[in-house]
Amino acid sequence: MSAYLDHASTTALRPEALEALVAGSARGAGNPSSLHSAGRRARVAVEESREALAAALGARPGEVVWTSGGTESDNLALQGLLRARRAADPARRRVLLAATEHHAVLDCVRWLEAHEGALVTWLPVDGTGCLDPDALEAALRHPDDVALVSLMWANNEVGTVQPVARAAELAHAAGVPLHTDAVQAVGSLPVDFAASGADLLSLSAHKFGGPVGTGALLVRRGTTLVPLVHGGGQELGVRSGTLDATGARATAAALTAALAHRPEEAARLAALRDRLLAGLLQVPGATLRGAPPGPQRLPGNAHVTFEGCEGDSLTYLLDAAGVECSTGSACQAGVPRPSHVLLAMGLSAAEAAGALRFSLGWDSTADDVDTALAAIGPAVERARRATGSRSARARRRVRPALGAGVSR
Ligand code: PLP
Repeated sequence: MSAYLDHASTTALRPEALEALVAGSARGAGNPSSLHSAGRRARVAVEESREALAAALGARPGEVVWTSGGTESDNLALQGLLRARRAADPARRRVLLAATEHHAVLDCVRWLEAHEGALVTWLPVDGTGCLDPDALEAALRHPDDVALVSLMWANNEVGTVQPVARAAELAHAAGVPLHTDAVQAVGSLPVDFAASGADLLSLSAHKFGGPVGTGALLVRRGTTLVPLVHGGGQELGVRSGTLDATGARATAAALTAALAHRPEEAARLAALRDRLLAGLLQVPGATLRGAPPGPQRLPGNAHVTFEGCEGDSLTYLLDAAGVECSTGSACQAGVPRPSHVLLAMGLSAAEAAGALRFSLGWDSTADDVDTALAAIGPAVERARRATGSRSARARRRVRPALGAGVSR
């Protein structure tokens, strides 16, 4: 028995998306910019998919810019908007964001800070990872140098849902546009671009059962972006490059399928997740992180820290038992780092070390939950023994050194 519980990192292709991919690839899509019949057919595919995506997300078709996925959408939003705002008013170089954002946002902003003189205000979050709107309001009290606010719709590690509509209201009151990274939310939560008030919204197809390598940035009418790539002038010059008609069809098919029964599916996932959580929290030293189950948490997200364990060891042990989950945070150059999200939520590095994220998706079943629950207890015991013997070895190494250097 095996259980894939890492849908937040990528989820299986939905049958509707697979069918669209196979049909489009078999046909030979044609270039949507070509004038001949094949090109015009490809253009129809792109535009029909644009319309479907827009209708599903409360946007206008003209507000959809196709991209290669979440990372590109975030970069186009942040770099493109910051540069456009600075071109109109050089004083506007400040970005407001929380430290719990995905690396696609964080590292882009840090790059802009290091290379283009952007200024950054880090907004605090509470113990569940939720932004305090009062802190945003305070940061917007003197908005003259503020270029933009970026606030993710839902966190990819702990699943916390952010007050995006309230943040957009506050930003607009100060004359500042807002970008939201909705990569984890689209397909899972009700996302209405118009109602949210956001000016820019990033999404990625492989998170809701579409193909890897396709996504979109929703750009509110009237929002100016400086393009990142220059070329054929596709997507009204905002994002040059031959459009992927087949990918667009598959993305629209996946989103339509994801939203067809979204409320029932969210309830089904939340019930599975709650049973998983109840079992995980039986393990001594296990603590739920993020918001309590409910509307402030993604329905498929269970994030737990296990005291005295290394998350990486746990993922290997669980993998050996057929359970695929993740620590939720990136390992840099092979070195496990405590999650920046958990640190921003106020956890110590030691507490954050034992983090595991289980994320359920459209093809998750009750058997997946049973498999994970059967494996977790023994895995935690073994991971703790491993951590214990590593610390004992480290203590043995440190003691003589201390003894040599310190007179008592
Ligand atoms: N933003 C969030 C919140 C994500 O979870 C991810 C992917 O994990 C991304 C952005 C990047 O998306 P992509 O993999 O499509 O580049």
